[in-house]
Amino acid sequence: MGNNLIKISFPDSSVKEYQSGISSMEIAKSISNSLAKKILVASYNDDYVDLSRKLTRDGSIKFHTWEDKEGKSTFWHSSAHIMAEAVEKLYPGVKFGIGPSIENGFYYDIDFQDHDSSKIDISKIEKEFISLCAKNLLFDRSEVSKKDAVRYFKEKDDKYKLELIDGLDDGSITFYKQGEFTDLCRGPHIPSSKFIKSFKVLNVAGAYWRGNEKNKQLTRLYAISFPNQQLLEDYLIKLEEAKKRDHRKIGKELELFFFSEKVGQGLPIWLPNGHIVRENLINFMYSEQKKQGYKHVTSPHIGSKDLYVTSGHYDKYGESSFQPIQVPSDNDEYLLKPMNCPHHCEVYRFKPHSYKELPLRIAEFGTVYRYEQSGELHGMTRVRGFTQDDAHIFCTIDQVKEEVIAVMDLILKVFKSLSFENFKVQISLRDKEDNSKYIGDDKLWDRAENDLIESVEEKGIEAVAEYGEAAFYGPKIDFMVRDSLEREWQLGTIQVDYQLPKRFDLNYIDKNNEKKTPVLIHRAPFGSMERFIAILIEHCEGNFPLWLAPEQVIILPINDNVKTYAENVNTSLTDNGLRSSVDFRNEKISKKVRDAELKKVPYMLIVGDSEMSSNTISVRKKTEGDIGKMSVKDFLSSIKSDLSTSTN
Ligand SMILES: [Zn+2]
Ligand SMILES: [Zn+2]
Repeated sequence: MGNNLIKISFPDSSVKEYQSGISSMEIAKSISNSLAKKILVASYNDDYVDLSRKLTRDGSIKFHTWEDKEGKSTFWHSSAHIMAEAVEKLYPGVKFGIGPSIENGFYYDIDFQDHDSSKIDISKIEKEFISLCAKNLLFDRSEVSKKDAVRYFKEKDDKYKLELIDGLDDGSITFYKQGEFTDLCRGPHIPSSKFIKSFKVLNVAGAYWRGNEKNKQLTRLYAISFPNQQLLEDYLIKLEEAKKRDHRKIGKELELFFFSEKVGQGLPIWLPNGHIVRENLINFMYSEQKKQGYKHVTSPHIGSKDLYVTSGHYDKYGESSFQPIQVPSDNDEYLLKPMNCPHHCEVYRFKPHSYKELPLRIAEFGTVYRYEQSGELHGMTRVRGFTQDDAHIFCTIDQVKEEVIAVMDLILKVFKSLSFENFKVQISLRDKEDNSKYIGDDKLWDRAENDLIESVEEKGIEAVAEYGEAAFYGPKIDFMVRDSLEREWQLGTIQVDYQLPKRFDLNYIDKNNEKKTPVLIHRAPFGSMERFIAILIEHCEGNFPLWLAPEQVIILPINDNVKTYAENVNTSLTDNGLRSSVDFRNEKISKKVRDAELKKVPYMLIVGDSEMSSNTISVRKKTEGDIGKMSVKDFLSSIKSDLSTSTN
C-alpha cells in the first residue's frame, strides 16, 4: 500500500495525487491551515466522511464548514451525541432512541425509565453539555460486527438500539464513542467537541417510538448548539421574534382564520377578516392571469376514482389519503380531489384542438384535500384542505420556454407586490448518473431542462441546480423566498410534464395535420392560499399592505358631538370602495388609537370639534404617525394613489 497514490479531485476541477490512506483533514492542511481549522466534515464521492477517515481510492472531495448546510447538520448531529452523554451522566440508566439533526438544531428521543421526565433539570443538562464540550472529546469511529453490536446494547439493556440494529446488515454497523458515551451511528461527526461553544435545550416534548402511537412515548429533547455564544444569542432573539410573528397567534388576534375540532383537524375556516385578505389576493391573481391570457374554469371538489386511476394520483395518494367515497345507488367510487390537474386534462379534452389554439392556459382556484398525519399538521402551513392558485398550460414543445418565462414574470410580480424582495430559485433536474427513474424520451428531457435553465438565466435570478430532484415526469423550478427573519420558504412552483397528457390521451393537430401530444406545465405562484397567507402574515407581522388590509381605515371620534360627522366621513370612504368603520365606543381617544394599532389598521382618522368645524380630518398613518389635517377629498385622492401603486 505504501507507495499507492490516489487521485483526489476538488470542486474547482483541479486534481492532486496523495498517498493512499491520507485523511481529508491532512488534505485540507496541505491546502491551507486556515481551511483545516474551519472544516467540520467532508463529502467524498457520494458519502459524507469524518475528517479523520482514511481515503484509499480515487475520488472527488468537498469540504464543509459551519457556513454550509452539511457542516451545520453534522455539527448539530454531533451535538446530539454530547447531549446524550450529558443526560446519561445525570440520569443513569436512561435508554436512547434516535438523535438526528433537524432544520434548526437537533433532538434526541430518550426513555427516562425510572426518572421522572417531567422533572428533568434542563439547566443541569446544559451545564454538563458545555463542560463535556470543553474536554475536547474526539468522535471515535469503529466498525463492529452485528453480534458485537447486539452484545453491547444487550448489556446496556437498550431495546431501542437493539431494534435499530435488527434492521441493519452485518458489516454495515459502526459505533462512535466520545468521552464515556458510545452510540450506534452511521456518522459522520465533527472532529472534536471543542468546536461547540454554546448550547440550549429549546423544548421538551413527547414522541412515540418510531412515530407509532402503539409504541411507548419517549421524551424528545429539542436543542441547538453553535460555534460561539453570540450566534446562540442572535438565534434566541430571532426565535422570540418568530413567536411574536407566528401566524397562528396573529391569525387569532386579527380574527383571520381558525380551526374547529368539530369541523375537523387541519381543515381551516377563514373568518371575515381573513376572507378579505384571501379574496383580494385571488382577485389580484385573477386579473393578472387574465392579462396573460388564462381561461378560468370551476371544477368540483370530488372526482370519480377512475379519473385518478388514469392520472396516476390514485397510486400516489389513494392508500395514504382520504379514502374513496361510496354512493348508495351504484358501484361508483369518488375521491376528494388531491390535485386539480386531472380535471383540467378533461377540460382540454372537451373539444379537439389545433396547434393554432395553443398555448391553452386553464386556471382555477381549486381546493384540494390531502390527508396529513395529525403530527404533521401545523397552523395554515400544513393543512388537510387547501386552495391552490392552480393553472395548467397545454402547449407545444417549442412554446415551453416562452411560457415558463411568462409564469416567472407573474411570480416575480406577486413577490414584488408583497415585498418579498429576497428569493432564489431551485431548478430540479434528473439524476446525472441514474436515468432509470424518469419516464420519457431523453431528448425531450434535455430540451425541457435546458428550457428551464435558460429561462432562469434570462431573468437573471439567483439559482441553484439540484440534480436528482426532478419529478419522474419532468423537471421543475421552485421559488424559495427569504422572509424578514431570514427564514427560507418554498412558495411558487413551475413543473414541466410530458407524462400526464399521454395518460389522458390528449392531442392536437399540428401544422402538417398530424396528431401530437401537448406538453403540460403545472404552475402555482402562491402554492396554496393557506400556506402563502401564513408566510405573508409572518413576513409582515400581520401588517398587511393597504390593498389587503381587512380594515383599511378607522375613524376615531373624540367626543359624542362629532358622531354624525364621523359617520358622514365614513360614508364617503365606503362609497369610494374603501373598507372603513367608526369606533363609536365611549373610550378615551388614546385607548381607541392603541386598539386600532393592535388591529393593525393602516389609517386612523381622528375627528374632533376643530376637524368638524373646518370640514377636515386628522390623519394618522400606522407606519408614519401623524401626517396632519386634510380634507376628506384630499385624503381620498392620496389613499387611492397608494392603492393603485401597490399592485402595479
Ligand atoms: Zn452520530
Ligand atoms: Zn397540476
